[in-house]
Amino acid sequence: MQITSLAQIQAALLSGELTAIDLVSSYLDRCAETKSHNAYVEIFEEEIKIAAQTLDEKIKNNKDKLGPLFGAVVSIKDNLCYKDHLVTASSKMLDGFVAPYSATIVERLIEADAMIIGRTNCDEFCMGSYNETSYYGPVKSAIDPTKVSGGSSGGGAVSVALGTCLVAIGSDTGGSIRQPAAYNGMVGYKATYGSISRWGLIAYGSSLDVIGFIAPHTEDITKVLTVVAGRDEYDSTSIDIPNAVQKEEITTLKIAYSSKVMNDPELKAELRQGAREYIVKLKAAGHELVDVDLKYEDYYVPTYYILACAEASSNLSRYDGIRYGHRSAEDVDDYKELIWKSRAEGFGSEVKKRIMLGTYVLSQGYYEAYFLKAQQVRTLIKEHTDELLASHDVLLMPVTTSLPKAIGEQKDPIQSYLSDRCTVLANLCGLPAISYPVYNIEGAAPLSMQLITASKQDNYLLAVSQALLSL
Ligand code: GLN
Repeated sequence: MQITSLAQIQAALLSGELTAIDLVSSYLDRCAETKSHNAYVEIFEEEIKIAAQTLDEKIKNNKDKLGPLFGAVVSIKDNLCYKDHLVTASSKMLDGFVAPYSATIVERLIEADAMIIGRTNCDEFCMGSYNETSYYGPVKSAIDPTKVSGGSSGGGAVSVALGTCLVAIGSDTGGSIRQPAAYNGMVGYKATYGSISRWGLIAYGSSLDVIGFIAPHTEDITKVLTVVAGRDEYDSTSIDIPNAVQKEEITTLKIAYSSKVMNDPELKAELRQGAREYIVKLKAAGHELVDVDLKYEDYYVPTYYILACAEASSNLSRYDGIRYGHRSAEDVDDYKELIWKSRAEGFGSEVKKRIMLGTYVLSQGYYEAYFLKAQQVRTLIKEHTDELLASHDVLLMPVTTSLPKAIGEQKDPIQSYLSDRCTVLANLCGLPAISYPVYNIEGAAPLSMQLITASKQDNYLLAVSQALLSL
Protein backbone atom coordinates (compact mmCIF):
# COMPACT_ATOMS: atom_id res chain seq x y z
CA MET A 1 0.00 0.00 0.00
CA GLN A 2 1.19 3.51 -0.83
CA ILE A 3 1.47 5.45 2.43
CA THR A 4 1.05 9.17 2.05
CA SER A 5 -0.76 10.47 5.11
CA LEU A 6 -1.59 9.67 8.70
CA ALA A 7 -5.30 9.61 7.89
CA GLN A 8 -4.68 6.79 5.39
CA ILE A 9 -2.51 4.84 7.81
CA GLN A 10 -5.06 5.12 10.60
CA ALA A 11 -7.92 4.04 8.33
CA ALA A 12 -5.90 1.03 7.14
CA LEU A 13 -4.92 0.07 10.70
CA LEU A 14 -8.51 0.29 11.92
CA SER A 15 -9.91 -1.71 9.01
CA GLY A 16 -7.31 -4.44 9.50
CA GLU A 17 -5.87 -3.89 6.03
CA LEU A 18 -2.56 -3.03 7.70
CA THR A 19 -0.94 -3.97 11.02
CA ALA A 20 1.37 -1.68 12.94
CA ILE A 21 4.09 -4.31 12.83
CA ASP A 22 3.90 -4.48 9.02
CA LEU A 23 3.91 -0.71 8.81
CA VAL A 24 6.97 -0.44 11.02
CA SER A 25 8.75 -3.29 9.19
CA SER A 26 8.29 -1.52 5.89
CA TYR A 27 9.81 1.68 7.32
CA LEU A 28 12.69 -0.33 8.79
CA ASP A 29 13.32 -1.98 5.41
CA ARG A 30 13.43 1.44 3.86
CA CYS A 31 15.94 2.58 6.52
CA ALA A 32 18.18 -0.38 5.57
CA GLU A 33 17.88 0.32 1.83
CA THR A 34 18.80 3.98 2.24
CA LYS A 35 21.47 3.63 4.94
CA SER A 36 24.17 5.13 2.71
CA HIS A 37 22.47 8.56 2.95
CA ASN A 38 23.56 8.67 6.61
CA ALA A 39 20.26 10.21 7.71
CA TYR A 40 20.17 8.38 11.04
CA VAL A 41 22.79 8.07 13.74
CA GLU A 42 20.74 5.36 15.45
CA ILE A 43 17.65 3.33 14.59
CA PHE A 44 15.56 2.04 17.50
CA GLU A 45 14.76 -1.18 15.68
CA GLU A 46 13.85 -3.55 18.50
CA GLU A 47 12.07 -0.89 20.46
CA ILE A 48 9.84 0.30 17.64
CA LYS A 49 8.87 -3.29 16.88
CA ILE A 50 7.72 -3.69 20.48
CA ALA A 51 5.83 -0.37 20.23
CA ALA A 52 4.13 -1.66 17.07
CA GLN A 53 3.08 -4.91 18.76
CA THR A 54 1.66 -2.95 21.67
CA LEU A 55 -0.23 -0.75 19.22
CA ASP A 56 -1.62 -3.77 17.37
CA GLU A 57 -2.94 -5.13 20.66
CA LYS A 58 -4.48 -1.78 21.54
CA ILE A 59 -6.19 -1.62 18.14
CA LYS A 60 -7.62 -5.08 18.77
CA ASN A 61 -8.68 -4.74 22.38
CA ASN A 62 -8.76 -1.10 23.34
CA LYS A 63 -9.70 0.97 20.31
CA ASP A 64 -11.31 3.74 22.34
CA LYS A 65 -8.00 4.37 24.15
CA LEU A 66 -6.05 5.09 20.95
CA GLY A 67 -4.10 8.36 20.98
CA PRO A 68 -4.54 10.90 18.17
CA LEU A 69 -1.19 10.03 16.56
CA PHE A 70 -1.53 6.25 16.53
CA GLY A 71 0.29 4.85 13.53
CA ALA A 72 2.51 7.93 13.11
CA VAL A 73 6.15 6.87 12.80
CA VAL A 74 8.45 9.79 13.53
CA SER A 75 12.19 10.41 13.57
CA ILE A 76 13.71 12.72 16.17
CA LYS A 77 16.74 14.94 15.68
CA ASP A 78 19.84 13.98 17.64
CA ASN A 79 19.37 17.00 19.91
CA LEU A 80 16.15 15.86 21.60
CA CYS A 81 16.43 13.93 24.84
CA TYR A 82 14.69 10.56 24.98
CA LYS A 83 15.09 8.96 28.39
CA ASP A 84 17.68 6.15 28.52
CA HIS A 85 18.69 6.73 24.89
CA LEU A 86 21.87 8.23 23.52
CA VAL A 87 21.70 11.89 22.49
CA THR A 88 24.78 13.69 21.15
CA ALA A 89 23.85 16.76 19.07
CA SER A 90 26.01 14.89 16.54
CA SER A 91 29.13 15.95 18.43
CA LYS A 92 32.08 13.98 19.75
CA MET A 93 31.61 16.08 22.88
CA LEU A 94 28.46 14.13 23.77
CA ASP A 95 29.34 10.80 22.17
CA GLY A 96 28.03 8.12 24.53
CA PHE A 97 25.83 10.50 26.55
CA VAL A 98 22.56 8.92 27.71
CA ALA A 99 19.55 11.21 28.26
CA PRO A 100 18.41 11.07 31.89
CA TYR A 101 14.90 12.26 30.99
CA SER A 102 12.70 12.78 27.94
CA ALA A 103 11.98 16.07 26.20
CA THR A 104 8.39 17.23 26.69
CA ILE A 105 7.74 16.82 22.98
CA VAL A 106 8.98 13.22 23.08
CA GLU A 107 6.70 12.48 26.02
CA ARG A 108 3.71 14.08 24.32
CA LEU A 109 4.35 12.15 21.10
CA ILE A 110 4.55 8.83 22.90
CA GLU A 111 1.46 9.58 24.99
CA ALA A 112 -0.40 10.24 21.72
CA ASP A 113 0.68 6.77 20.46
CA ALA A 114 3.26 7.96 17.91
CA MET A 115 6.24 5.61 17.46
CA ILE A 116 9.84 6.82 17.34
CA ILE A 117 12.00 5.10 14.76
CA GLY A 118 15.39 6.65 15.49
CA ARG A 119 17.51 9.74 15.96
CA THR A 120 18.62 11.68 12.95
CA ASN A 121 22.00 13.08 12.03
CA CYS A 122 22.45 16.87 12.17
CA ASP A 123 25.13 19.52 12.07
CA GLU A 124 27.25 19.52 15.22
CA PHE A 125 25.22 21.31 17.90
CA CYS A 126 22.99 22.36 14.99
CA MET A 127 25.57 24.82 13.68
CA GLY A 128 25.65 24.72 9.91
CA SER A 129 23.54 24.95 6.80
CA TYR A 130 24.56 21.82 4.92
CA ASN A 131 24.75 18.98 7.48
CA GLU A 132 28.46 18.69 6.85
CA THR A 133 29.69 19.50 10.37
CA SER A 134 28.33 16.35 12.06
CA TYR A 135 30.76 14.14 13.96
CA TYR A 136 29.07 11.22 12.17
CA GLY A 137 29.76 12.54 8.67
CA PRO A 138 27.62 14.41 6.14
CA VAL A 139 24.05 13.52 5.23
CA LYS A 140 23.49 12.94 1.53
CA SER A 141 20.55 14.57 -0.22
CA ALA A 142 17.50 12.40 -0.84
CA ILE A 143 17.27 13.78 -4.37
CA ASP A 144 20.91 13.57 -5.44
CA PRO A 145 23.31 11.74 -3.08
CA THR A 146 26.31 13.65 -4.42
CA LYS A 147 24.76 16.84 -3.01
CA VAL A 148 24.38 18.16 0.53
CA SER A 149 21.10 17.57 2.34
CA GLY A 150 20.91 21.06 3.83
CA GLY A 151 21.15 21.65 7.53
CA SER A 152 21.18 21.50 10.34
CA SER A 153 18.19 19.09 10.34
CA GLY A 154 19.47 17.40 7.15
CA GLY A 155 19.02 13.92 8.60
CA GLY A 156 15.40 14.68 9.44
CA ALA A 157 14.58 16.07 6.00
CA VAL A 158 16.20 13.10 4.27
CA SER A 159 14.54 10.61 6.65
CA VAL A 160 11.11 11.85 5.50
CA ALA A 161 11.99 12.40 1.85
CA LEU A 162 13.28 8.82 1.57
CA GLY A 163 10.10 7.43 3.13
CA THR A 164 11.70 6.04 6.31
CA CYS A 165 9.12 7.76 8.52
CA LEU A 166 6.02 9.94 8.27
CA VAL A 167 7.20 13.08 10.05
CA ALA A 168 10.62 14.27 11.23
CA ILE A 169 10.95 16.30 14.41
CA GLY A 170 13.71 18.87 14.11
CA SER A 171 14.79 22.21 15.50
CA ASP A 172 15.27 25.56 13.82
CA THR A 173 17.48 28.31 15.22
CA GLY A 174 17.99 30.18 11.96
CA GLY A 175 16.51 28.00 9.23
CA SER A 176 17.54 24.47 10.14
CA ILE A 177 14.14 22.98 9.33
CA ARG A 178 13.00 25.11 6.42
CA GLN A 179 16.23 24.98 4.43
CA PRO A 180 16.87 21.19 4.48
CA ALA A 181 13.15 20.62 3.86
CA ALA A 182 13.49 22.83 0.76
CA TYR A 183 16.64 21.04 -0.39
CA ASN A 184 14.79 17.73 -0.27
CA GLY A 185 11.44 18.81 -1.69
CA MET A 186 9.55 18.58 1.63
CA VAL A 187 7.44 20.94 3.73
CA GLY A 188 9.34 22.39 6.71
CA TYR A 189 7.61 24.24 9.52
CA LYS A 190 9.07 26.11 12.48
CA ALA A 191 6.75 27.06 15.32
CA THR A 192 6.21 30.41 17.03
CA TYR A 193 8.90 30.84 19.68
CA GLY A 194 7.70 29.09 22.84
CA SER A 195 4.67 27.36 21.34
CA ILE A 196 6.41 23.98 21.60
CA SER A 197 8.27 23.35 24.84
CA ARG A 198 12.08 23.35 24.59
CA TRP A 199 12.42 21.19 27.69
CA GLY A 200 14.81 18.41 26.71
CA LEU A 201 16.07 20.14 23.55
CA ILE A 202 19.85 20.62 23.63
CA ALA A 203 20.31 24.39 23.55
CA TYR A 204 22.11 26.27 20.79
CA GLY A 205 20.76 29.86 20.87
CA SER A 206 18.04 29.84 23.52
CA SER A 207 16.23 32.98 22.37
CA LEU A 208 16.13 31.67 18.78
CA ASP A 209 15.69 27.88 19.15
CA VAL A 210 12.34 26.38 18.25
CA ILE A 211 11.11 22.90 17.46
CA GLY A 212 9.35 22.12 14.20
CA PHE A 213 8.52 19.39 11.72
CA ILE A 214 9.32 18.16 8.24
CA ALA A 215 6.76 16.15 6.26
CA PRO A 216 5.59 15.71 2.67
CA HIS A 217 2.55 17.96 3.30
CA THR A 218 1.05 20.23 5.92
CA GLU A 219 -1.89 18.07 7.02
CA ASP A 220 0.19 15.76 9.21
CA ILE A 221 2.25 18.67 10.52
CA THR A 222 -0.97 20.24 11.80
CA LYS A 223 -1.94 17.00 13.54
CA VAL A 224 1.40 16.68 15.29
CA LEU A 225 1.37 20.34 16.29
CA THR A 226 -2.06 19.99 17.89
CA VAL A 227 -0.72 17.24 20.14
CA VAL A 228 2.62 18.74 21.16
CA ALA A 229 1.98 22.51 21.32
CA GLY A 230 1.15 24.49 24.41
CA ARG A 231 2.33 25.43 27.84
CA ASP A 232 4.66 23.21 29.77
CA GLU A 233 5.60 23.73 33.39
CA TYR A 234 9.23 22.82 32.59
CA ASP A 235 9.70 25.66 30.06
CA SER A 236 8.86 29.11 31.38
CA THR A 237 8.90 30.55 27.83
CA SER A 238 6.22 28.12 26.64
CA ILE A 239 2.86 29.50 25.49
CA ASP A 240 -0.50 28.33 24.15
CA ILE A 241 -1.53 29.03 20.57
CA PRO A 242 -5.00 29.18 18.93
CA ASN A 243 -6.49 25.97 17.50
CA ALA A 244 -6.49 24.60 13.98
CA VAL A 245 -8.00 26.69 11.17
CA GLN A 246 -9.98 25.09 8.33
CA LYS A 247 -8.53 25.37 4.85
CA GLU A 248 -11.94 26.60 3.66
CA GLU A 249 -11.55 29.67 5.89
CA ILE A 250 -8.68 30.85 3.69
CA THR A 251 -9.98 33.05 0.89
CA THR A 252 -8.04 35.78 -0.85
CA LEU A 253 -4.90 36.88 0.92
CA LYS A 254 -2.96 40.08 1.24
CA ILE A 255 0.59 38.85 0.71
CA ALA A 256 3.64 41.03 1.40
CA TYR A 257 6.86 40.32 -0.49
CA SER A 258 10.03 42.22 -1.30
CA SER A 259 10.88 42.48 -4.99
CA LYS A 260 14.34 43.69 -3.91
CA VAL A 261 15.00 40.43 -2.07
CA MET A 262 13.47 38.26 -4.79
CA ASN A 263 15.46 39.94 -7.56
CA ASP A 264 18.72 40.17 -5.67
CA PRO A 265 21.59 39.05 -7.92
CA GLU A 266 22.91 37.06 -4.90
CA LEU A 267 19.97 34.73 -5.48
CA LYS A 268 20.60 31.99 -8.01
CA ALA A 269 18.92 32.79 -11.38
CA GLU A 270 16.64 29.73 -11.18
CA LEU A 271 15.41 30.85 -7.78
CA ARG A 272 14.71 34.38 -8.99
CA GLN A 273 12.80 33.08 -11.98
CA GLY A 274 10.86 30.57 -9.87
CA ALA A 275 9.92 33.28 -7.37
CA ARG A 276 8.71 35.58 -10.16
CA GLU A 277 6.59 32.85 -11.68
CA TYR A 278 5.13 31.95 -8.31
CA ILE A 279 4.08 35.55 -7.75
CA VAL A 280 2.33 35.57 -11.12
CA LYS A 281 0.52 32.38 -10.12
CA LEU A 282 -0.57 33.84 -6.78
CA LYS A 283 -1.90 36.97 -8.48
CA ALA A 284 -3.77 34.86 -11.02
CA ALA A 285 -5.39 32.98 -8.12
CA GLY A 286 -6.83 36.29 -6.90
CA HIS A 287 -4.42 37.14 -4.08
CA GLU A 288 -3.23 40.69 -3.55
CA LEU A 289 0.56 40.96 -3.66
CA VAL A 290 2.13 44.00 -2.07
CA ASP A 291 5.76 44.88 -2.70
CA VAL A 292 7.13 46.02 0.66
CA ASP A 293 10.41 47.44 1.87
CA LEU A 294 12.23 45.08 4.26
CA LYS A 295 14.34 47.99 5.36
CA TYR A 296 16.62 46.13 7.78
CA GLU A 297 17.28 43.19 5.48
CA ASP A 298 21.04 43.85 5.30
CA TYR A 299 21.23 43.44 9.07
CA TYR A 300 19.43 40.10 9.42
CA VAL A 301 22.51 37.91 9.01
CA PRO A 302 24.98 39.95 11.10
CA THR A 303 22.43 40.37 13.89
CA TYR A 304 21.60 36.68 13.87
CA TYR A 305 25.21 35.48 13.91
CA ILE A 306 26.23 37.84 16.71
CA LEU A 307 23.33 36.72 18.90
CA ALA A 308 23.42 33.03 17.96
CA CYS A 309 27.16 32.80 18.64
CA ALA A 310 26.89 34.75 21.89
CA GLU A 311 24.14 32.48 23.18
CA ALA A 312 25.96 29.38 21.94
CA SER A 313 29.17 30.34 23.71
CA SER A 314 27.23 30.61 26.94
CA ASN A 315 25.13 27.47 26.44
CA LEU A 316 28.11 25.34 25.44
CA SER A 317 30.22 26.38 28.42
CA ARG A 318 28.66 23.51 30.36
CA TYR A 319 30.60 20.97 28.26
CA ASP A 320 33.81 20.93 30.24
CA GLY A 321 34.59 17.23 30.58
CA ILE A 322 33.73 17.47 34.28
CA ARG A 323 30.01 18.12 34.52
CA TYR A 324 29.22 17.00 30.99
CA GLY A 325 30.83 15.75 27.89
CA HIS A 326 33.98 14.21 26.53
CA ARG A 327 36.88 14.07 29.01
CA SER A 328 40.42 14.13 27.68
CA ALA A 329 42.48 11.06 28.63
CA GLU A 330 45.74 12.99 28.39
CA ASP A 331 47.89 13.79 31.42
CA VAL A 332 47.00 17.18 32.87
CA ASP A 333 48.38 19.33 35.66
CA ASP A 334 45.15 20.89 36.85
CA TYR A 335 41.44 21.14 36.15
CA LYS A 336 41.88 24.10 33.79
CA GLU A 337 44.10 22.07 31.54
CA LEU A 338 41.59 19.23 31.70
CA ILE A 339 38.84 21.58 30.51
CA TRP A 340 41.01 23.02 27.70
CA LYS A 341 42.03 19.62 26.43
CA SER A 342 38.55 18.13 26.74
CA ARG A 343 36.98 21.01 24.82
CA ALA A 344 39.75 21.05 22.22
CA GLU A 345 39.21 17.33 21.56
CA GLY A 346 35.41 17.26 21.92
CA PHE A 347 34.30 20.14 19.71
CA GLY A 348 34.63 20.34 15.94
CA SER A 349 36.04 23.39 14.16
CA GLU A 350 32.72 25.11 13.31
CA VAL A 351 31.60 24.91 16.93
CA LYS A 352 34.95 26.24 18.19
CA LYS A 353 34.73 29.13 15.77
CA ARG A 354 31.28 30.08 17.03
CA ILE A 355 32.31 29.79 20.68
CA MET A 356 35.23 32.15 20.01
CA LEU A 357 33.06 34.62 18.10
CA GLY A 358 30.41 34.49 20.82
CA THR A 359 32.90 34.93 23.64
CA TYR A 360 34.42 37.86 21.80
CA VAL A 361 31.13 39.73 21.32
CA LEU A 362 30.26 39.21 24.98
CA SER A 363 33.62 40.26 26.38
CA GLN A 364 34.30 43.52 28.19
CA GLY A 365 34.85 46.36 25.76
CA TYR A 366 33.06 44.61 22.88
CA TYR A 367 29.76 43.81 24.58
CA GLU A 368 28.33 47.29 23.92
CA ALA A 369 29.70 47.45 20.37
CA TYR A 370 28.41 44.05 19.27
CA PHE A 371 26.07 42.13 21.57
CA LEU A 372 24.08 45.07 22.88
CA LYS A 373 23.91 46.67 19.41
CA ALA A 374 22.67 43.40 17.93
CA GLN A 375 19.96 43.22 20.61
CA GLN A 376 18.88 46.74 19.71
CA VAL A 377 18.85 46.00 15.99
CA ARG A 378 16.87 42.83 16.71
CA THR A 379 14.20 44.97 18.39
CA LEU A 380 14.03 47.26 15.35
CA ILE A 381 13.73 44.27 13.01
CA LYS A 382 11.01 42.74 15.16
CA GLU A 383 8.99 45.95 15.46
CA HIS A 384 9.15 46.52 11.72
CA THR A 385 8.19 42.94 10.86
CA ASP A 386 5.33 42.88 13.40
CA GLU A 387 3.98 46.11 11.91
CA LEU A 388 4.16 44.63 8.45
CA LEU A 389 2.29 41.52 9.54
CA ALA A 390 -0.37 43.57 11.26
CA SER A 391 -1.41 44.95 7.87
CA HIS A 392 -0.72 41.87 5.67
CA ASP A 393 -1.84 38.26 6.10
CA VAL A 394 1.53 36.71 5.33
CA LEU A 395 5.05 37.60 4.24
CA LEU A 396 6.37 35.64 1.26
CA MET A 397 10.13 35.09 1.07
CA PRO A 398 12.52 32.79 -0.73
CA VAL A 399 14.03 30.07 1.49
CA THR A 400 17.54 29.76 0.18
CA THR A 401 19.85 31.83 -1.98
CA SER A 402 21.35 28.86 -3.79
CA LEU A 403 20.57 25.35 -4.98
CA PRO A 404 22.14 22.38 -3.12
CA LYS A 405 25.87 22.16 -3.74
CA ALA A 406 28.07 19.08 -4.01
CA ILE A 407 29.23 17.69 -0.68
CA GLY A 408 32.44 19.52 0.31
CA GLU A 409 31.97 22.25 -2.31
CA GLN A 410 31.00 25.11 0.02
CA LYS A 411 34.29 26.14 1.61
CA ASP A 412 33.77 29.83 2.36
CA PRO A 413 32.11 30.22 5.79
CA ILE A 414 30.92 33.77 5.03
CA GLN A 415 29.02 32.55 1.95
CA SER A 416 27.52 29.82 4.08
CA TYR A 417 26.37 32.31 6.74
CA LEU A 418 25.00 34.67 4.08
CA SER A 419 22.94 31.85 2.60
CA ASP A 420 20.77 32.03 5.74
CA ARG A 421 19.60 35.55 4.95
CA CYS A 422 16.03 34.54 4.12
CA THR A 423 15.45 32.20 7.05
CA VAL A 424 16.89 33.99 10.10
CA LEU A 425 14.21 36.72 10.10
CA ALA A 426 11.52 34.41 11.51
CA ASN A 427 13.83 33.35 14.37
CA LEU A 428 14.95 36.87 15.20
CA CYS A 429 11.26 37.82 15.51
CA GLY A 430 10.03 34.54 17.09
CA LEU A 431 7.49 34.13 14.27
CA PRO A 432 6.06 30.94 12.76
CA ALA A 433 7.30 30.13 9.26
CA ILE A 434 6.97 27.38 6.70
CA SER A 435 8.78 26.40 3.51
CA TYR A 436 7.09 24.35 0.83
CA PRO A 437 7.91 23.28 -2.73
CA VAL A 438 6.26 25.34 -5.45
CA TYR A 439 8.20 24.94 -8.64
CA ASN A 440 9.95 22.01 -10.30
CA ILE A 441 13.47 22.46 -11.57
CA GLU A 442 14.69 19.90 -14.08
CA GLY A 443 16.95 17.31 -12.38
CA ALA A 444 17.19 19.22 -9.08
CA ALA A 445 15.32 19.76 -5.83
CA PRO A 446 12.12 21.71 -6.46
CA LEU A 447 12.16 25.39 -5.66
CA SER A 448 10.54 26.17 -2.34
CA MET A 449 9.11 29.40 -1.03
CA GLN A 450 8.60 30.52 2.54
CA LEU A 451 5.66 32.08 4.34
CA ILE A 452 5.81 33.90 7.67
CA THR A 453 2.81 35.04 9.72
CA ALA A 454 2.23 37.00 12.89
CA SER A 455 3.11 35.43 16.22
CA LYS A 456 0.93 32.49 17.39
CA GLN A 457 -0.79 32.24 14.00
CA ASP A 458 0.77 28.82 13.41
CA ASN A 459 -2.45 27.08 12.56
CA TYR A 460 -3.47 29.88 10.22
CA LEU A 461 -0.05 29.64 8.54
CA LEU A 462 -0.43 25.88 8.08
CA ALA A 463 -3.90 26.30 6.57
CA VAL A 464 -2.67 29.06 4.24
CA SER A 465 0.29 27.02 3.04
CA GLN A 466 -1.94 24.02 2.48
CA ALA A 467 -4.26 26.15 0.36
CA LEU A 468 -1.35 27.65 -1.58
CA LEU A 469 0.42 24.31 -2.02
CA SER A 470 -2.46 23.05 -4.11
CA LEU A 471 -2.29 26.04 -6.50
N1 GLN B 1 22.59 27.83 9.54
C1 GLN B 1 22.26 28.49 10.76
C2 GLN B 1 23.38 28.39 11.74
O1 GLN B 1 24.31 27.69 11.47
C3 GLN B 1 20.97 27.95 11.32
C4 GLN B 1 21.14 26.69 12.04
C5 GLN B 1 19.92 26.27 12.79
O2 GLN B 1 18.82 26.72 12.52
N2 GLN B 1 20.14 25.42 13.79
O3 GLN B 1 23.34 28.99 12.77
